[in-house]
Amino acid sequence: MITASPSARLSRPDWREAWRAAITDPVQLLDLVGLPELASRLPADNAGFALRVPRGFAARMRRGDPRDPLLLQVLPQLAELDVVEGFVRDAVGDMDAKTAHGILHKYDGRALLIASGSCAINCRYCFRRHFPYGDEIAAAGQWRDALEHVRNDSSINELILSGGDPLALTTRKLAELTDGLKNVPHVTRLRIHSRLPVVLPERIDDELIDWLASLPLQKVLVLHVNHAREFDASVDDACRRLRDAGVTLLNQAVLLAGINDDVTAQADLAERGFAAGVLPYYLHQLDKVAGAAHFEVPDERATELMIELRNALPGYLVPRLVREVAGEPSKRPVASRAR
Ligand code: SF4
Repeated sequence: MITASPSARLSRPDWREAWRAAITDPVQLLDLVGLPELASRLPADNAGFALRVPRGFAARMRRGDPRDPLLLQVLPQLAELDVVEGFVRDAVGDMDAKTAHGILHKYDGRALLIASGSCAINCRYCFRRHFPYGDEIAAAGQWRDALEHVRNDSSINELILSGGDPLALTTRKLAELTDGLKNVPHVTRLRIHSRLPVVLPERIDDELIDWLASLPLQKVLVLHVNHAREFDASVDDACRRLRDAGVTLLNQAVLLAGINDDVTAQADLAERGFAAGVLPYYLHQLDKVAGAAHFEVPDERATELMIELRNALPGYLVPRLVREVAGEPSKRPVASRAR
């Protein structure tokens, strides 16, 4: 078993305290980043989707910059109230793909388990901002049906934990889940989709690392980072510890207007991630979820951007531009024009 070095185990803050200390009041966030004048432009009731941002993530925002790419990902905007044709509540067909309690079986060989409905951060563009988590979470105590489905389908070799954020669960609960896979030989890979190593790196504590390192499975963690400035020394440390525990790190980002829709932002994201040991995986076209239309980048601009990016970076640092289409058996590539 690979474990963190003894020195790295000293005085790590409790992630649950950092979680509880998150900012939930947009006025407080605006005060903190030196933009109190923007409070008059906040939508009533946060446009129906609560603000939530960990203090460590807020500390990476530039003071006095209303266009800060980290701030724009979390600050409620009046534009979220716009009703835009084609932008709907269940943008990726999650409800139709449900096969067992908390399981989404959209792709061959893989089953996705909604492990938790909680997130440490609320991203305004999130495709699940309207998802009925309360009904669909296969949280601890409700693993039975979900695991039964995985156990009975020998075509499933990869279990994907998603959410919400699966690392919102305690490590004890995650271990309960993987204990249930012990006699399921066809599952050889565990993939975790999580934003926590970036937005709340305190979560990557010794207990989590020991659990990951002990698993007799291949482990992949797909981070979700949209901008290079989301990385800092604490995120680098979390990534290093995950890699030391035998976890392959990939990144998926969402292409977001005004945040990362230029070649410099995308190239910086790929380079900065690689410096932290994270390979680019997907660049998603926005899921058309109600309330997020102002983040959309047209396909034509997105494909031009990919050409610029391929000219700027080695091939292994260029993510695949994709879109999720309800009912399709895989993500759909968004084609670039040949040059
Ligand atoms: S599911 Fe992911 S994108 Fe959506 S709010 Fe949670 S962390 Fe953000």
